[in-house]
Amino acid sequence: MAFAITQNCCNDASCLSVCPVNCIHPTPDEPDFGKTESLYIDPRNCIDCGACADACPVDAITRVSRLGPDQAVFADINADYFADKPVESEWDVPRFPLPTINELSEVEVAIVGTGPAACYAAQALLRFPRARITFYDRLPTAGGLARFGVAPDHMGTRRIGEHFRTVFTNPRVTMKLGVEVGSDVEHRELSERFDAVVYAVGAERDRRLDIPGIDLPGSTSARKLVGWYTGHPDVPADAFDFEGVERVVLVGNGNVALDAARILTADPADLEGTDIAPHALAVLRRSSVKEVVLVARRGPAHAAFTRSECQALVDRTNIPVVVSGPVDVSARIADLPDSSAASALSGLDAVEVGDLPSGRRIVFSFGRAPAAVGGVDRVESIDIGSGDEKRRIRTELVLLAIGYQGSPTLGLPFDQATSSIRNAAGRVTDTEGIPLEGAYVVGWAKRGATGGIGHNKMDAEETVDALIQDMAGRTRQPATRRRTPFNRVGAWLPLQAPSRGLS
Ligand code: NAP
Repeated sequence: MAFAITQNCCNDASCLSVCPVNCIHPTPDEPDFGKTESLYIDPRNCIDCGACADACPVDAITRVSRLGPDQAVFADINADYFADKPVESEWDVPRFPLPTINELSEVEVAIVGTGPAACYAAQALLRFPRARITFYDRLPTAGGLARFGVAPDHMGTRRIGEHFRTVFTNPRVTMKLGVEVGSDVEHRELSERFDAVVYAVGAERDRRLDIPGIDLPGSTSARKLVGWYTGHPDVPADAFDFEGVERVVLVGNGNVALDAARILTADPADLEGTDIAPHALAVLRRSSVKEVVLVARRGPAHAAFTRSECQALVDRTNIPVVVSGPVDVSARIADLPDSSAASALSGLDAVEVGDLPSGRRIVFSFGRAPAAVGGVDRVESIDIGSGDEKRRIRTELVLLAIGYQGSPTLGLPFDQATSSIRNAAGRVTDTEGIPLEGAYVVGWAKRGATGGIGHNKMDAEETVDALIQDMAGRTRQPATRRRTPFNRVGAWLPLQAPSRGLS
């Protein structure tokens, strides 16, 4: 018997460091690390000790014998990863180098943002006993996408918030919530006050889709929906109403689209006791949504969702999932290897989107790009595909789930191609690649809007390594000696009331 890693895996590799037999892969030293959608336990080498399950911050690891019927598939998914790898593995022993903590003098770091990337950066910095951190967030509540991005029914993943809470309440951490860097305080001021400023600002804009009709009322972003059902302070409680809405079309089939489809089709009773915003649950109880269609411009081999998220959706017994697309769509799905994300859709019925079903269902439409949104005063339909493959889908609501991007609002060098802050291994650089002293970046602002929560851990550690190297070799005086003693209540920010801790 062995343990298995399930759908919630956050990829932050906490489990790896406690496994006594090194049976969890890929490790950070292996080429696959960061490329697989989850980590996997080799059932042939697992000794069933459970240390990984205790260390997992998101409750993603379970003894195989205790996997419920909807999770049984994860035993195979874990085993599959090792199918072409030898039992007597030649894995390297994982390396977890301890930082040289004694060489560093006092270091004062501002971290802009309080989401997962910010928290992993803080965790890495707090290993240095003389590091102190001040978090800035424009919102009155900390947590970023851990709070306002992770789906409210993914309770295991949302446990990461508890893990991060220990960072926010660390005595060497100060919280400045409700302070917007770029308007209330400028980067220049922060860089004068702190030894280093780490930007963990994510990707706050929606990608734009330039097709006719896209700005009609009834066409909006999936980000807004996510903010609405997670209770984001920027999204009003009355932003959505699904009374009279029978079909929702989501453009894109990444995990954001899957989350939205799952919430919109869920039985409201199943959402009770989750972290869903009460106003959203009240509206969903009155919803008349019967069908959610996910429109992908490419075929099943290029699905953007992860296999585990899709499998969990398909395994939900009460909502049928079907596929749609050019005639050979089912055959193309059937031909996919097990490792392919859309193999989770294998064997499902193929339909033409047209008449509404009697109950609720989810349709994965492939190979037809959105071409135009139709309607007079508001959305009435969306055209997808072209030529013989062109289809018109009647709908009252179009949600764009085509990804996020950053913006050059902070006055920091910005790379338009990747929609991220220009950087080299986390050091913010100018267009010539020259590092800007004391400026660093982590997370989606560093690498673009890809990857789930755990991907931010190694990424943040890379940035903190660079920061620490720079601090160890710095020539200018530490911030603590350049100015009056550190002021925990932030009197130098007269615009803002002091704030601390989670509100
Ligand atoms: P994503 O994974 O990048 O998916 C974007 C989708 O939009 C793709 O299907 C893409 O199709 C499509 N798209 C992009 N531009 C388009 C255009 N011009 N026209 C039509 N379709 C277009 O983005 P996401 O869903 O926002 O997720 C962002 C990241 O967060 C991902 O790494 C995701 O895995 C992660 N995330 C994870 C979870 C989870 O683990 N539960 C939950 C939410 C988000 P193409 O492939 O053809 O470009």
